[in-house]
Amino acid sequence: SVPLTVGELAKRLKKEPSEIIKKLMLLGIMANINQEVDMDAITLIAEEYGVEVEQKVEVDETEFEQIEEQDDPDQLQERPPVVTVMGHVDHGKTTLLDAIRHTNVTAQEAGGITQHIGAYQVEYEQKKITFLDTPGHEAFTTMRARGAQVTDIAIIVVAADDGVMPQTREAINHAQAAKVPIIVAINKMDKPEANPEKVKQELMELNLVPEEWGGDTIFVPISALKGEGLDELMEMVLLVAEMEELKANPDRLATGTVIEAKLDKGKGPVATVLVQNGTLRVGDPIVVGNTFGRVRAMTNDNGQRIKEAGPSTPVEIIGLQDVPQAGDQFKVFEDEKKARAIAEARAEKQKQKELAQTQRVSLEELFQQI
Ligand code: GDP
Ligand code: MG
Repeated sequence: SVPLTVGELAKRLKKEPSEIIKKLMLLGIMANINQEVDMDAITLIAEEYGVEVEQKVEVDETEFEQIEEQDDPDQLQERPPVVTVMGHVDHGKTTLLDAIRHTNVTAQEAGGITQHIGAYQVEYEQKKITFLDTPGHEAFTTMRARGAQVTDIAIIVVAADDGVMPQTREAINHAQAAKVPIIVAINKMDKPEANPEKVKQELMELNLVPEEWGGDTIFVPISALKGEGLDELMEMVLLVAEMEELKANPDRLATGTVIEAKLDKGKGPVATVLVQNGTLRVGDPIVVGNTFGRVRAMTNDNGQRIKEAGPSTPVEIIGLQDVPQAGDQFKVFEDEKKARAIAEARAEKQKQKELAQTQRVSLEELFQQI
């Protein structure tokens, strides 16, 4: 432990105390054998003998889990809603996400190349909206299974020519279980066989009652293919967002969730993360799931390098030691040593857990065999 006395330091370096005292003097530190020297001096002296000092950082790895720190209400600011599009296969999720993305004026103005990072942001009436670009409920459930809640609003897409289907029900169940407000987009309205009334009736059985029938669910008829009804849909998203009073504190170390992650041959581990609170900055020491690193570079959904990202912003980051998993949470720490120590403690805990699990399994197998 630090500090050490000159005598203790000499002993550890296997040198004469007088030699250490001389070296300290050269550094401008006058000390006798019983005097304590601080970490900086220890590091400098050790370096002279070619010894690298590694300070053991005492950490409480549960600090990572204390992600829900209370923010001072005065520091809270409005943040963009994070929207997930769900629905039955072929009902038009991908077409809708593409259509929304292409009406993204900011991306065009900036002349940026839109790249796929698993999420994107559009601006509508000077307000930003973040869309998770991983359609389908698999992404949603994977995240939820890992304890992450990233979605503020779910758009359930139902094809007007097909109506409520098994995956429509599933999607609604997921959104309701997560207590995420639902907006129903009745898609393919351009088709002659479109029957929006039938869709409404079927959804009423699932407790989604349109406003005109005395309920409180918002229905928006659209054609993702023709780009019709998208303005109304965006307006409704903003309306629901306003009612939800979504807020975050940009003036703190960032926390959030991994949307996607992969290993890139050139860049190493690459992760798309959604900042949920605070502001993420290049250079930040970060713990992501069981891994850690320092944010070396950040890229937004337009492929532009950025230096910082506030609440509800999706960004791609590089600089992690390892590839995290979708749904992993991240948290920035004030120094890298601490981040590393916390990540290592978490990885160790995970290993123990897995070990305990395999041991239990084999024990069960053993009993089954008897
Ligand atoms: P997903 O499986 O939910 O992602 O559905 P897709 O977006 O891949 O769409 C499935 C098919 O429906 C594609 O052939 C689309 O072109 C078509 N489609 C999607 N939206 C519309 C729409 O508004 N009108 C019409 N006529 N076809 C649509
Ligand atoms: Mg699709």
